[in-house]
Amino acid sequence: MTNGDIDLRELHNPDIPVPEEMQSNIAITSLSSLYNWSRSRSIWPMLFGLACCAIEMIATAASRFDVARFGMEVMRATPRQADLMIVSGTVTKKMIVPIVRLYNQMPEPKYVLAMGACASGGGPFKEGYNVVSGIDKFVPVDVYVPGCPPTPQALLNGLIMLQKKIESQSLAVMASVPWYGAGPNDAIPLPMLGPDVVDPRHAELFRQEAKRNRQTPVVADAVAEAAAESRPAEA
Ligand code: SF4
Repeated sequence: MTNGDIDLRELHNPDIPVPEEMQSNIAITSLSSLYNWSRSRSIWPMLFGLACCAIEMIATAASRFDVARFGMEVMRATPRQADLMIVSGTVTKKMIVPIVRLYNQMPEPKYVLAMGACASGGGPFKEGYNVVSGIDKFVPVDVYVPGCPPTPQALLNGLIMLQKKIESQSLAVMASVPWYGAGPNDAIPLPMLGPDVVDPRHAELFRQEAKRNRQTPVVADAVAEAAAESRPAEA
């Protein structure tokens, strides 16, 4: 696709620098400002909470703090209609799998806000056997809000920081808006953490992988035995 002498496909390639005259193009910069202003004032957060921080997030949406002032009151119960994931609470190893799955299901452009010490780095449960040390080890985080729990004012401040980040993205510099890149973005692989989330139906696959990697067969046998115990005994 071309626009006069400009090949628009080249603008989508972050490896190709945008000509200086294009970066200061009044039409593009004005369009960017209007486009980003609209996006930053109509963010739809996903409706879910994980732990105590979620109570403060709910308070932020209520009338006293009134997140509707920022155009963010439309919380969606499906990731396919949300563009902001507020991770509000402790992220356990069991929950990280659905969280990554939900993130993959959100359409671009999408943003992640880590609310509180737990979501940002594990918080008081850091290094716990069942807690991940920060959501940013699995999905990209745009804004961190510190606190245990953060106050509604702190969350509002984080949302304002996100608005500023969105406003700083430019249509002229495509490298700063990766969703304009050519082709779909790859989904983040679902993590599998710990023996409590191993699917016994994959035991044979694990055994083959273990043998291929020349690991001790004890590991593979233990997984196969666990899978066998989960199946009814053959007559
Ligand atoms: S950061 Fe504090 S308030 Fe928030 S989920 Fe963790 S323990 Fe609860």
